[in-house]
Amino acid sequence: MRYSVTFWGARGSIPTPGPATARYGGNTPCVSVQGEGSAGNRLVVLDAGTGIRPLGQMLTAAHSAANPGSPRESRTAVSVQMDLLVSHTHWDHIQGLPFFAPFFGPQNQVRIWGAKQGEVDLEVILRQQMNPVVFPVPLDKLAAELKVRHVTPGRFEIDGFAVQAMRLRHPGNTLAYRLTPREGGASMAYVTDNEVGSGGDYDVGPEWRQEFVRFLTGVDLLIHDAMFTPEELERHRGWGHSSNLEAVTIATEAGARRLVLFHHRPEHDDTAVDRLLEQAREAASRTGALEVTAATEGMQLTL
Ligand SMILES: [Zn+2]
Ligand SMILES: [Zn+2]
Repeated sequence: MRYSVTFWGARGSIPTPGPATARYGGNTPCVSVQGEGSAGNRLVVLDAGTGIRPLGQMLTAAHSAANPGSPRESRTAVSVQMDLLVSHTHWDHIQGLPFFAPFFGPQNQVRIWGAKQGEVDLEVILRQQMNPVVFPVPLDKLAAELKVRHVTPGRFEIDGFAVQAMRLRHPGNTLAYRLTPREGGASMAYVTDNEVGSGGDYDVGPEWRQEFVRFLTGVDLLIHDAMFTPEELERHRGWGHSSNLEAVTIATEAGARRLVLFHHRPEHDDTAVDRLLEQAREAASRTGALEVTAATEGMQLTL
């Protein structure tokens, strides 16, 4: 199955609107994966940072275009069926969820997948995010049909894709997802908020790095945390993030074909991300044929 991967938000930690970040974009993590051709109705979304809001607008506009006679009020009736895979529930990865227009369409079905945080279920966390003391519409009042599914590391299936989940080195219970089309085709891995190098105290075993390389082996597209420069990383060991060069090293070790640097640091303006990318490309060119790019809002790749 062929599919396209679209970046709706690539910024880490907090949205950064403004002219200094206009090129790479200021929205927090959200990536959509959509089947092409006869699989066009298959939609998987990775994380629900503020980037999920423009994705919701696009889905709503697509429906309006397909149903020109529909009254204005029913514009949110998109008839979207999708799987949303949440890496973890730090703000920047769920912040856009209450503003996702398809939630307000009664014909839509959204399955949300993610890990527990300690003993707390994902559904409880999402409910608290929309508690009346902080948000006007509670989760139970959304018109769409929502199902929340609990994920543990290992394999499971969603519409069109086999998924593997792996625990990452990051505060909290954070998961990487590797997606492979069930009918065959290129595979991709979404790995954000991950400290590849030493530092930090995370609930993973001593074999983590070997397991991680195995998990990524031969992946066509690797989207990986590259929040820091190598110098910044030295001052931020234990923060749960990687440098651009570590992302290149891990992608090379795993034999990935293409690497996308992701979760840009809020302090980095467009020029700083350009430099990070240039340095990563230089390192990649010394070791092999790895293609490197930096995630840019609106960027679309086809696999
Ligand atoms: Zn994050
Ligand atoms: Zn995080």
